[in-house]
Amino acid sequence: MRNLLDLDAAGLEAFVTGLGEKPFRARQLLRWIHRRGAADFAAMTELARSLRARLEQTACVKAPPVLSDSTSADGTRKWLLDVGQGNAIETVFIPEDDRGTLCVSSQAGCAMNCLFCSTGRQGFNRNLTTAEIIGQLWWAEHALRQQFGITAENERVISNVVLMGMGEPLQNLDALLPALRLMLDDNAYGLSRRRVTVSTSGLVQQIDKLAAECPVALAVSLHAPNDALRDRLVPLNRKHPLAELMAACRRYLRHAPRDFVTFEYVMLDGVNDSPGQARELVALVRDVPCKFNLIPFNPFPGSGLARSPAVRVRQFAEVLMQAGIVTTTRKTRGDDIAAACGQLAGEVRDRTGLASRLAGRLPPLVAATES
Ligand code: SAH
Ligand code: SF4
Repeated sequence: MRNLLDLDAAGLEAFVTGLGEKPFRARQLLRWIHRRGAADFAAMTELARSLRARLEQTACVKAPPVLSDSTSADGTRKWLLDVGQGNAIETVFIPEDDRGTLCVSSQAGCAMNCLFCSTGRQGFNRNLTTAEIIGQLWWAEHALRQQFGITAENERVISNVVLMGMGEPLQNLDALLPALRLMLDDNAYGLSRRRVTVSTSGLVQQIDKLAAECPVALAVSLHAPNDALRDRLVPLNRKHPLAELMAACRRYLRHAPRDFVTFEYVMLDGVNDSPGQARELVALVRDVPCKFNLIPFNPFPGSGLARSPAVRVRQFAEVLMQAGIVTTTRKTRGDDIAAACGQLAGEVRDRTGLASRLAGRLPPLVAATES
């Protein structure tokens, strides 16, 4: 069975012409699947009955099944999705006044092993398929439309997508690219390139490849102002040190839909948060048009690290801003449901443990139809 969520417009066109159909059928299918959220070919009434029957025999529309669905006191909603063999991934919706952001996972686990990240600590399981990546948006958009009582096909709840869930997206670029194209496709989600952000720990060649294949907004997880410290925090730095990474960012900006790179910087108490380190950072990024997003560290069991005090985060931000760099501090969202940055572990091996955690600590699960 061909899972049609694996196919972008070009892939779908090849698939339908392979069935002896006209290419425009691909566009109809795209709209049914992604704009309307249909999974059942029988419901796709514009398609000839014979084609619907062929599709039922040869294809399916299947996103990863939902294991749990929880909503935080602040409205952040998190789904835990089953990707088989005891692996689960997490997708988080973050509502804000002027936008709705979906945080999407790209791998089950992650091989990068950053010191401060619970996904990294869990190790690498596997790359997600295109269907598993776009399936998160497909599922979330349509579940949220239901939650908010939206029926119009062209109204969207999700305006922004960030590849900041579990995994290193650029290590799974082959599966990611068709998913990105679907996010941007007017017949699918029609998101603006500036509102789709890929976040990377710094895979230099893949940054170039993303620029060539599908430039979207770029966020780079920096976390340290020099190689000695970054080698410890982000082991990938030993392979691609900061000078190389800064050069890659500059090259990316020639293609990027935005004229800046966002640097993410997790604030770790006593590790990378001194005013002197902020000044070193200003010097490091001198030639890269950028904005900074400071992320208060979200602790997880056994991390051995602590969040910087708010006053130190403010002082750090102050140094950057005085140097003319736009700097924001990320609000921690959804930490009561372990949905905050770096808390996504997707552990389901112990499902009973998960269930009791959900029962004991979390707000009740919310039905998809609640508004
Ligand atoms: N692998 C990619 C994208 C996923 S991580 C990357 O590293 O960029 C998304 C962001 O969350 C990254 O900036 C990452 O450094 C940050 N992060 C990881 N663990 C965190 C934690 N415990 N607290 C706060 N932010 C964390
Ligand atoms: Fe992987 Fe990103 Fe976590 Fe590093 S911070 S381990 S790259 S998910």
